[in-house]
Amino acid sequence: MDDKEFLELVEQVYKFHTKRAPGIPIGVAMVQLAMEKLGEVKQLGAITETQVCLSDTIQFLTGCTIGNKYLVMHEKIGRYALTLYDRADGRGVRVFVDLNKIDPQKMPEMHKFFLRQRSHEVQHDKDARRASAKIIVDEFMTAGRKIFRWQRVRVKNYQKDDVLPAKICRECGESYLYSEENSQRCPVCSKELDYYLTEQ
Ligand SMILES: [Zn+2]
Repeated sequence: MDDKEFLELVEQVYKFHTKRAPGIPIGVAMVQLAMEKLGEVKQLGAITETQVCLSDTIQFLTGCTIGNKYLVMHEKIGRYALTLYDRADGRGVRVFVDLNKIDPQKMPEMHKFFLRQRSHEVQHDKDARRASAKIIVDEFMTAGRKIFRWQRVRVKNYQKDDVLPAKICRECGESYLYSEENSQRCPVCSKELDYYLTEQ
C-alpha cells in the first residue's frame, strides 16, 4: 500500500470516528503491521489497551467490535497498543509505540502527543488542534513504522465468555443479564449502576 492509498484508508477511519484524530493514521499503521505479522487466522480477535481512537481504528479495519465481543477493551492499561490474535488458540501479535524511537527533536509534536504534553490551546482551540494534528501526521508519515515495536504473544483466557442468563427485574419489569444467582433487581433498580434520573 502506497502513501496515497494509506491516506485514503485513513480518511475512511476519520469518518467512522467522526474526528480527524492524529492517532488514527498511527493506529491504522499499527493494525496493518499486526495483521501482517499475525498472518491469516481462522478467527480474528483483537484487544486494545486504550479506548480513544485506537479502538475505533481496530473496529473499522478488522470487524472485531465491542458488539460482537471480538474486540476486548482493556482501557485501564492506558498504553497505546493493541494485540491481534487467533481466537482459536490465543496466538497473537502485540504492536506498541516505542517512545525511544520518537526523538523529541525530530518529532516534537508526536512526542508531546504520546506524553499528553501538547499546548493548552490544543484542548480548547479548534484551529490549534487542527494545526497540531497536521504536524503529528506529517511527522508520522516521515517516520513510519519505525516508531513501533511488535512481539509474539499468547493471549490468556482467549475463549469467548458465555452469554449470561437473563431474568426479569422485580422492580422495573425489564429483562436483564445477571451473574449473581440471588439478584432480584437489575443494576439500575438496585442502584449499582443508576446512571440516570427520570424526568417528569
Ligand atoms: Zn429494574
